Amino acid sequence: MRYFGSDIWGIEIPEYPFLDIFSNTMFRGLCAKYDNYEHQPQNVNAVKSTCTVHGHSDYTTCKHCNKTLSEYTEYPLAEHKTYASTVRKAPTCTESGYTETIKCSVCKQTIQESTVIPALGHSPVVVPAVSATETETGLTEGVKCSRCGIWLTEQKITPRIGSDMPGDVNGDGKINGSDVGILTRYVSGWVTGIEKLTKLANADINHDGFINGADAGILARYVSGWNNYSSFFE
Ligand SMILES: [Zn+2]
Ligand SMILES: [Zn+2]
Ligand SMILES: [Zn+2]
Repeated sequence: MRYFGSDIWGIEIPEYPFLDIFSNTMFRGLCAKYDNYEHQPQNVNAVKSTCTVHGHSDYTTCKHCNKTLSEYTEYPLAEHKTYASTVRKAPTCTESGYTETIKCSVCKQTIQESTVIPALGHSPVVVPAVSATETETGLTEGVKCSRCGIWLTEQKITPRIGSDMPGDVNGDGKINGSDVGILTRYVSGWVTGIEKLTKLANADINHDGFINGADAGILARYVSGWNNYSSFFE
């Protein structure tokens, strides 16, 4: 039903039949009070949901009393159109980071505030010890962070076996009777001593520049447990 002039005249004048004047102007609102007055349906067009306002399907209302005359479906809210308005910063082992701020480009709401991501802490892994050999130095066990690579416990170099050990003349990492026997035979010129004395630097026990009976004597007494000889072997 179309009308014109309602704003101007204060009453609504129908384009069409005269009878509508009664139903639409004289008896406006009576439909809400009396069962025998018919509602005047008008269509309300369907509206899509936005992210903040629910939409609905088509339905009809009464143009006089605004009563809803038909069933309709209310649509769920549309998804926000989200984007990151700030940049995310990843945490490291020692420094915290933060998440991005998520906003909706349609309704401008902040959907998710930026939050702090705590520092991760180091991720320790044990780096096994490396045994020293007669030719290569070794390493003690260390602990490293598998993420950032920093050393939490540094490895220390261990000396070559037999090296820098005065008295260990056969280089087996030990100072014992074998060394005494070899050094004694060596200074006596015995072949069995010369062949087995593989660590010459360890044989000059008193550091006088010679490998001789004095060294063999010190070693023999040290191995036998005599006092006052340990300083040669430190
Ligand atoms: Zn009505
Ligand atoms: Zn939105
Ligand atoms: Zn780390």
